[in-house]
Amino acid sequence: MPLVETPLDPRARWGLPAPGAMPRTVELEPLVTRVLAPNPSGMTLDGTNTYLVGQPGSGQAVLVDPGPDDAGHLAAVEAALAARDARCVAVLVTHHHGDHAEAALPWGTHFGAQVAAATAAVAGPSGRLLAPGERLALAGTTIGVVATPGHTLDHLAFRLESGAVLVGDHVLGRGTSVVTHPEGDVVAYLESLRRIHDLGPSALYCGHGPELTEDPRAVLEFYLAHRAYREHQVLEALAAGAGSVDEIVATVYAEVPRELWPAAAQSTRATLAKLVAEGRVESDGDGVRPA
Ligand SMILES: [Zn+2]
Repeated sequence: MPLVETPLDPRARWGLPAPGAMPRTVELEPLVTRVLAPNPSGMTLDGTNTYLVGQPGSGQAVLVDPGPDDAGHLAAVEAALAARDARCVAVLVTHHHGDHAEAALPWGTHFGAQVAAATAAVAGPSGRLLAPGERLALAGTTIGVVATPGHTLDHLAFRLESGAVLVGDHVLGRGTSVVTHPEGDVVAYLESLRRIHDLGPSALYCGHGPELTEDPRAVLEFYLAHRAYREHQVLEALAAGAGSVDEIVATVYAEVPRELWPAAAQSTRATLAKLVAEGRVESDGDGVRPA
């Protein structure tokens, strides 16, 4: 087995805000204000990032990933809209997970704004279904719809005129994202990372954690290297005798807090599904071994 070095996270040197130190509301660039939802956890980091996107002076804004249906969060979003002198004209959602999508339909009704997402399950019966490659003319600007399946099947990213990309849970401000299982797909995830890399983003505005502006491509390269490294670790654990997902997780994620092990198990199952499809691993139910 080739020697694979632990990938180094370029963000370690960037001086990003410490966990819990992100401002509640901040203007990231003239087009974008971010409002942090009050739902921090091991999985959601500082909480869900809700974004307001609109051309200054247009009097309009698009809400991306409204997050949890929380009265305090809605009040913070309404204050941010007022500060932009804008009304909400549409609600876009990156993917179906509740920490991003829960408020979409109730707030769409509240604002009288259409909800748009990849699936009717999120957009609702009167919502708008988004297709990859579409360019949405909204709030005095243009928003490009970019397919980013992997974390979930329905995941979309939104590319702004400034070159910044709203990446939802495809890339997080800290650490790495989870490829869910069975819905997620490691091969699709890697393709989606390369797709965003090829856009040459000026910034990544993540679903959780701080904005990544210094060298977005370096983060995407780290994510690709990290996935390759995890795959290498899974194969190593199997070669060393691990015979189940739980045993692999206990080996590969030994230094990760236990509250994150269920997510680690999902990513491990997704990695194993890729390795089984490639004929490198055999699986029967929960038992796994090298092919
Ligand atoms: Zn998610």
